[in-house]
Amino acid sequence: MPNINVLDKHIAELIAAGEVVERPASVAKELMENSIDAGASSITVEIRRGGITYLRITDNGCGIDRQNIRKAFLSHATSKISSADDLDSILTLGFRGEALASIAAVSRVEIMTRAEGEETGTRYCIEGSQETLLDDAGCPKGTTIIVRDIFYNTPARMKFLKKDVTEGNAVAGVVDRIALSHPEISVRFIRDGKETLVTSGDGKIKNTVFSVFGRDFAQSLIPCSYELNGIKVDGFISKPVNSRANRTMQFFFLNGRLIKTRTGMAALEAAYKNSIMVGKFPSCVLNIHVPASAVDVNVHPAKTEVRFADEKKIFDAVYYCTKLALEQGDTRPQMSFESKAQMKINSQKMPQPYKAEQIKIDTPPPFTKNSSFFGEVKAYGKVLEDLNAGTVKFNSPKETADADKIENDEDILLNNRPKQEEKAEEEIKPDAAESAPVFKEKQIQTEIKSEEKNEEKTETYIPEPFRVIGEAFKTYIIVEQGEKMLIIDKHAAHERMIFESLKKNVNDAESQLLLAPVTVTLSKEEYSAVLENIGVLSKAGYAVEDFGQGMVIVTECPTFIESGEIESVISELAGYLAENKKDLIPEKLDWIYHSTACRAAIKSGDYTSAYEMEKFVESLLNNPDIRYCPHGRPVLMEMSKKEIEKNFGRIQ
Ligand code: ADP
Ligand code: MG
Repeated sequence: MPNINVLDKHIAELIAAGEVVERPASVAKELMENSIDAGASSITVEIRRGGITYLRITDNGCGIDRQNIRKAFLSHATSKISSADDLDSILTLGFRGEALASIAAVSRVEIMTRAEGEETGTRYCIEGSQETLLDDAGCPKGTTIIVRDIFYNTPARMKFLKKDVTEGNAVAGVVDRIALSHPEISVRFIRDGKETLVTSGDGKIKNTVFSVFGRDFAQSLIPCSYELNGIKVDGFISKPVNSRANRTMQFFFLNGRLIKTRTGMAALEAAYKNSIMVGKFPSCVLNIHVPASAVDVNVHPAKTEVRFADEKKIFDAVYYCTKLALEQGDTRPQMSFESKAQMKINSQKMPQPYKAEQIKIDTPPPFTKNSSFFGEVKAYGKVLEDLNAGTVKFNSPKETADADKIENDEDILLNNRPKQEEKAEEEIKPDAAESAPVFKEKQIQTEIKSEEKNEEKTETYIPEPFRVIGEAFKTYIIVEQGEKMLIIDKHAAHERMIFESLKKNVNDAESQLLLAPVTVTLSKEEYSAVLENIGVLSKAGYAVEDFGQGMVIVTECPTFIESGEIESVISELAGYLAENKKDLIPEKLDWIYHSTACRAAIKSGDYTSAYEMEKFVESLLNNPDIRYCPHGRPVLMEMSKKEIEKNFGRIQ
């Protein structure tokens, strides 16, 4: 059992200071990390009422001997470092010597511990930093810490705690991550008397992933392992087809510590480039092993941020590790010719990021009377603004090709990654010809019906007669109408029509009962956020129920959504709910409608029959208000006959 030192003021000041106790989850994290540092091979976490009234951590680690027990609860008391130099080579999870002191300051702590070689163990109680008991205890080697009534003496902080279930899910999230980062430790989690997680501790990440996230997720993973420049990366990455709508299932660990790493994330996603749809993200459980001197963990009190001495090396190691794992299986002896051809096909199939900069329109969009259009659109979010300001133009094919090259550059792609919702709409089904027509008569009728409803209230709009000429690139429907030629982006237009229809039917979202309910695995934070917002989701047409262990089950969804899209739309909504908890207004459901509409809308690349086109154009032209998709892209452009004739030199 190592000796505990109280750090002198000078070293204490070198350590990034800050709050370690925010909520039960942060207590669980600190205590579990202590157990890991103590060399435990088994850790049990038990909570009651979300960990607010009771949180117990039991380990079989080295224990704390009697003479060190009081010291352990002093501020800046640690056995892990003793001099400033030690800060350069931290291999333990703790080192600040603050956790026990901070926890004991705001709760009632009881600890039972016995160190190796000690005959009797120690029971020590401390409440609000005041010692209340120090006694013998018969206990096995290791440590049990019980933390009761967190914030009992600081009501102001108590106020910030969320509902029990939310706090409990946050603890579960911490336990999940710690279990994932240490597959060699058997982790058990008991919540209100029910065992909700046990990992085997057999050292196999895949088994741990299976225990934590269930079979479906575990089966979607590919193993990977790679070493480059002394940096070892191993773990699992998701198969490209199993990508998700957000990054919540990306877990990076550095020497067994959960970290946030933009470098790792960028490298991972760069490796998936061209094999994953735009707007989708890979999942991973990746452990990065580096020498302690190559990293600075002493950055943030929560210790999730780290700095690498050489970020490039980390990027390369993660990139090649991922890339290699993705390519394995495709590797064949005579691969060069075959794999090149394969790559070509793949890249043809894969959608490219949407390039807003390339759009230029020479003529005003339809239904606007007073605007003139010159110049270029700079960024996606500005499209609407620019349209109104009259600065949108179309590029020549050459400019478009050049822009393609630039956009495909890895750095630019990573640095200028457009926002999720903006990218989501460029999804193209991998093999367009095979996919069945997506417009269902029922859908179109619903749309028309809801428009009719609207028309009763407002004046009736009768469009000029039109004729559908056909479709270009399986994306743009070309229509002749009077003295104009219209080019309609079918995805953008359909998306907007669905969006409008969903909005009109607020409080009465038309939903369909699913024949086979769909289960969706979520991170515990998303899970919690979804369970808290079941009402909001149901208003938008999704019937979602708790399925236990981080899974929800979807039994109903809006009529527009196909069942194959449910998992992806729910995980996207869950990610949004988890991120934007604070500013969610149940009355404002536009963001849900966006996601729904985008998923439900026909994709560019999908096959559309002549009849469907006809019906679609009719309902679109019936509604002159539909000019932009929900993200602000134009849905329709027009070119006057005069303009065409001018260009052909028929008229001056
Ligand atoms: P730190 O982990 O930063 O050193 P803590 O306040 O978390 O600081 O813990 C103080 C000290 O108490 C640790 O350095 C360690 O020696 C001892 N300790 C805490 N928890 C355990 C445990 N579960 N098993 C053995 N020793 C422990
Ligand atoms: Mg600690």
